[in-house]
Amino acid sequence: MPDNDNSIPMFKGTISYEAFGNLYLNITNQCSANCVFCIRDLCDGVYGYDLRLSREPTEEEIIGDLESHDLKRYNEVVFTGFGEPTCRFDTVLHITKWLHDKGIIVRLDTNGHAALMNPGRDVVAELKAAGLDDVSISLNAESEERYNELCKPAFIGSYAAMLDFAKSSVRLGIKTRMTVVGDNDIDIEKCESIATGIGASFRVR
Ligand code: SF4
Repeated sequence: MPDNDNSIPMFKGTISYEAFGNLYLNITNQCSANCVFCIRDLCDGVYGYDLRLSREPTEEEIIGDLESHDLKRYNEVVFTGFGEPTCRFDTVLHITKWLHDKGIIVRLDTNGHAALMNPGRDVVAELKAAGLDDVSISLNAESEERYNELCKPAFIGSYAAMLDFAKSSVRLGIKTRMTVVGDNDIDIEKCESIATGIGASFRVR
């Protein structure tokens, strides 16, 4: 066989996994934060699935994986996994549109930093246009100071960007939830008040 230096290396890892009646997508291990409570530092995956990717799956590989499932069986297909999905923002858009066109409910679990990773783009409007139904945004703290301590974001202004993401999402009619991780010495009541003040629902994970 001739050498082929341009060939894509073999993919190893879990692109999709089932839990709670949903199908979860794991499309990247990159993230724009480094949260002290991130499970990536504690284990290799969840629910028995290894979520460490040998490389990021291509869009063709993600669609190939999705096509191997009866997607109508699931309540929703959720971008989540062992990383921040919007580190691959265009892929999230393309796969969301592909799913939406098939009548599948799509949710994005996100840290809300997409605007900082994609300057000049109206990221929430693009997600809405692609057909995103639901979003779950990690609020994580009641103040920027506490957020920076807990989440160690890569970009200055991440807390404000996350709040703006949530506000735009509510304004554009995407079903919006904001979450915190309990047991992190945060003011949960204040977090709930921030979320509900924006018009989002609130959940302690
Ligand atoms: S935003 Fe999510 S994936 Fe990124 S470090 Fe925090 S918990 Fe982990």
